[in-house]
Amino acid sequence: MATIVMKFGGTSVADIERIRHAARHVKREVDAGHKVCVVVSAMSGKTNELVAWTREAAAVHDAREYDAVVASGEQVSAGLMSIVLQEMGVPARSFAGWQVPIETSDAHGSARITNIDPKLLFDRMDAGLVCVVTGFQGVSPHGRITTLGRGGSDTSAVAVAAAVEADRCDIYTDVDGVYTTDPRIVPKAQRIERISFEEMLEMASLGAKVLQTRSVELAMAKKVRLVVRSSFDDPDQVPPLGENGDWQGPGTLVCDEDEIMEKQIVSGVTCAKSEAKITLRGVKDNPGVAAAVFGPLADAQIVVDMIVQNISDDGKSTDITFTIPDAEFDKAMTVLKEAGETSLEFDSISGSKGGAKISVIGVGMRSHAGVAASMFRALSDKSINIQLITTSEIKTSVLIEEEYAELAVRALHTYYGLDIEEA
Ligand code: ADP
Ligand code: ASP
Ligand code: MG
Repeated sequence: MATIVMKFGGTSVADIERIRHAARHVKREVDAGHKVCVVVSAMSGKTNELVAWTREAAAVHDAREYDAVVASGEQVSAGLMSIVLQEMGVPARSFAGWQVPIETSDAHGSARITNIDPKLLFDRMDAGLVCVVTGFQGVSPHGRITTLGRGGSDTSAVAVAAAVEADRCDIYTDVDGVYTTDPRIVPKAQRIERISFEEMLEMASLGAKVLQTRSVELAMAKKVRLVVRSSFDDPDQVPPLGENGDWQGPGTLVCDEDEIMEKQIVSGVTCAKSEAKITLRGVKDNPGVAAAVFGPLADAQIVVDMIVQNISDDGKSTDITFTIPDAEFDKAMTVLKEAGETSLEFDSISGSKGGAKISVIGVGMRSHAGVAASMFRALSDKSINIQLITTSEIKTSVLIEEEYAELAVRALHTYYGLDIEEA
């Protein structure tokens, strides 16, 4: 007998019929004798609607009340999932974040889970109940409802899996695994059988929204076996968990690198749109200049991503270019212009929205030179201009114009031999 956490995303609980279908997956595991915690997202589109309502109510609003509103979607799906399970003869009970409790920081809108006391979940599972837990939400030290940031139900699921020491955390979604790139952009994308935590972490943080980045971080830290699979599969055709806990079915297993025999140089390609770029020219090149630029941005809670700095020939001034989300562009320009009047000396400031960051990721890059060079060649073959470049041990990213994003992803996917072979 194993303990399994089963997470269902928005499209997997989009209406009562889909909830019934998801519940049949749950029933299969229960019938096989396993203890099960289910974690649910809001019905598809619901969170967007709730977020829009808070904005309509007031453009600038109290983050605590934002959380009170947007967390409600998950409560609806958890209750409905329990009702449907009960109707199928599977004893089930729903729990909101505060009831478990899922304790979080008080950073409303993007809270971090700090602790989950598993006692109640253990008690209820031991009593033969399926625990249906709301994803995406928790409770702050002040006893208020918090939410974990968009896509946060993945993180709820992994955190619950770690707390109840689950043998596996199954993320049921609308694709049948993690693909070499978003299968909605590149139909020739292939499902990856096994992917390392490190690669999945890079893919998630660089734009593959199939898993929330924090969920992968947490799974890696807590050694949670994570499987991404489709809720659209026929629940009766999927083989149950093997005797020794091995995964026998479809989907993608996210696991330690040493569980993967064949190491790809490039495992995946990602795309993140809506990246803005700002350039400061003729910045006086004193020690501490970078701090003078990025300090005010950090104080304004603006997250800076790629940074490039060029020293001028005479060594007296420097040009600094960096990227931020499009949504922060106006704020960042204002902050820097204000700094220009006080603490920071520069000749000019310019910038534009509408960039896309395209990345190639693979653990094989550690031992293979030339991936960056070949990436630049593949893009230049398509006449795509590269504006910025960053690299790390297992990834290379470039900033390009958004309108070429799909073309670039397809070109790189083909270039690195990731296209699925025609049958
Ligand atoms: P859920 O509602 O189940 O959480 P999401 O919409 O958050 O589902 O994530 C699933 C989506 O992620 C897929 O429909 C797919 O379009 C997208 N996606 C982006 N990159 C990838 C990738 N590399 N592999 C699989 N899916 C991806
Ligand atoms: N419902 C939330 C969202 O749409 C959380 C999630 O689906 O993971 O972001
Ligand atoms: Mg999601």
